[in-house]
Amino acid sequence: MDNLKNNCPAGHGEMSNAIVSKEIEFRGKQVKYQIESLQCPKCGLIRSTLEQTADAQLAIAENYRKQVGLLTGEEIKYYREELGLSQQQLADRAQCSKMSIVRWENGIIQKPASDKALRDILCPEDPHNEYSGNRDLSLGRIKLVYMEFEKHVDYSLLIPGDRGLYGAKNCWYADSVAYRDLGRGMTGATYAVMPHGPQLDNYADLFDVIFEYDTSDVEPLTKAEVLIIKSLSKIFKHQKDAYVASHAEPEWKKIQNNLGQRISYKVSYKLTAA
Ligand SMILES: [Zn+2]
Repeated sequence: MDNLKNNCPAGHGEMSNAIVSKEIEFRGKQVKYQIESLQCPKCGLIRSTLEQTADAQLAIAENYRKQVGLLTGEEIKYYREELGLSQQQLADRAQCSKMSIVRWENGIIQKPASDKALRDILCPEDPHNEYSGNRDLSLGRIKLVYMEFEKHVDYSLLIPGDRGLYGAKNCWYADSVAYRDLGRGMTGATYAVMPHGPQLDNYADLFDVIFEYDTSDVEPLTKAEVLIIKSLSKIFKHQKDAYVASHAEPEWKKIQNNLGQRISYKVSYKLTAA
């Protein structure tokens, strides 16, 4: 019977295992995943065994979690074992049931609050901090940084339709210097290596939102942060100055070819322009 199930329904005989790449919409995200499926060598028809279907569901959940920045099941298990904790011990520390741990490790997606609790236990030194400047992303604060620069320089940073070619460099310096001097960035933005310099991650989606952002409820910049922007404004007097300076940074030159790579805020310790 088993053999018959593995036959092509179009009568081409036995199907063979193939690695298939797929993409589906899951919780509003396009999630790509790869699974092993049966494929007919003659007509290309794909069919999964029950076990392969279960693997696909796990792969979707894992890739979704990667995409939205939640710990994957594999990561939870890996870090737990690194710390020598049983599932019960982790559950006790995270104040949840052992069954929750079992389910999360096997593909059920945890809520953000649970993810935070797990991270605090499993990976408190999470490298995420090094890439977000030790704070949560605030699009409103990105706008405040831009607005503060505009008070002290003669050029605009908030330009409708702008993609931050120049402004993102001012913001990167402001975040970096704050991280270096105050222990955390101003905006929580993550920066990536792009062809035209350090750039806000996912910038294409962000600038219109930043431009329109209502900043009335945003945590205002502190005096120390304003001072940093004032002093940067004296260095970056012209629109392109931060752009040019960022490209001349020795630390930038080391990473400039790794397109798409996130930029560690630790680069700030070796900045030369500011
Ligand atoms: Zn076939």
